[in-house]
Amino acid sequence: MINDLFTKSNFIEQEKLCFSLFNITFSILSSLNTIFLLKDEDYYHIFNSMPIDEYYNFKFGELNYRSIKFHNIDIPAPKLLPTATVNFTNSGIYTRMTEWKNLPFHGSNNDYTTITFEEPCSYKENNFERYYPVKDLKGENRLLFMKYKKIKNSKIDFVGRLGLYSYLNMDQCINFALKTSENFIRKNI
Ligand SMILES: Cc1cc2nc3c(=O)[nH]c(=O)nc-3n(C[C@H](O)[C@H](O)[C@H](O)COP(=O)(O)OP(=O)(O)OC[C@H]3O[C@@H](n4cnc5c(N)ncnc54)[C@H](O)[C@@H]3O)c2cc1C
Repeated sequence: MINDLFTKSNFIEQEKLCFSLFNITFSILSSLNTIFLLKDEDYYHIFNSMPIDEYYNFKFGELNYRSIKFHNIDIPAPKLLPTATVNFTNSGIYTRMTEWKNLPFHGSNNDYTTITFEEPCSYKENNFERYYPVKDLKGENRLLFMKYKKIKNSKIDFVGRLGLYSYLNMDQCINFALKTSENFIRKNI
């Protein structure tokens, strides 16, 4: 049965089911406008993708994250750049600029073009949007994460970029979460 659940052929169906469940849960939570506090005995197991340090009330200290402020500018011209993205290698405040019209199927009007400049910043300067775990030279952030990871907690598996404090693409996050839940089901159900 476990194998059936995770075969490629029904992956799309699982995906649809996950999205439906997410949408239903989200609609319920947002319409109730209520924060739910779960007690240990209220749930069997949680796969948690929130920041691991925040879950443990930052008891060993805060993990650091880099964020990005996106500055969008509309320019009254059909097109500006010969390419989609220009990376800046100087010490200015922006790391890159993107002209969306240069991506396939993005924008078709001749009056304006939109350019986005990216300015790196601390997540605290950007509404606590945690984008990239910070890899410091001494590896101190990784060590701090390991302290949280080593906390024994049989009712929670941390997943996702914030739970694992690791830069992961979407496919990696989804694969890891599926594998983690598959292992849990195999061992416990
Ligand atoms: C600028 C940028 C570009 C990217 N481009 C790509 C790309 O081209 N391709 C690609 O594959 N990946 C890309 N990624 C990576 C991709 O966004 C991540 O892999 C993916 O979003 C991670 O999924 P996640 O569920 O782990 O975390 P998230 O998508 O970050 O979800 C975590 C969720 O937890 C919520 N949360 C936070 N704190 C709490 C709390 N205390 N309680 C409850 N909920 C909380 C957050 O609001 C958020 O909704 C990009 C990322 C960034 C930042």
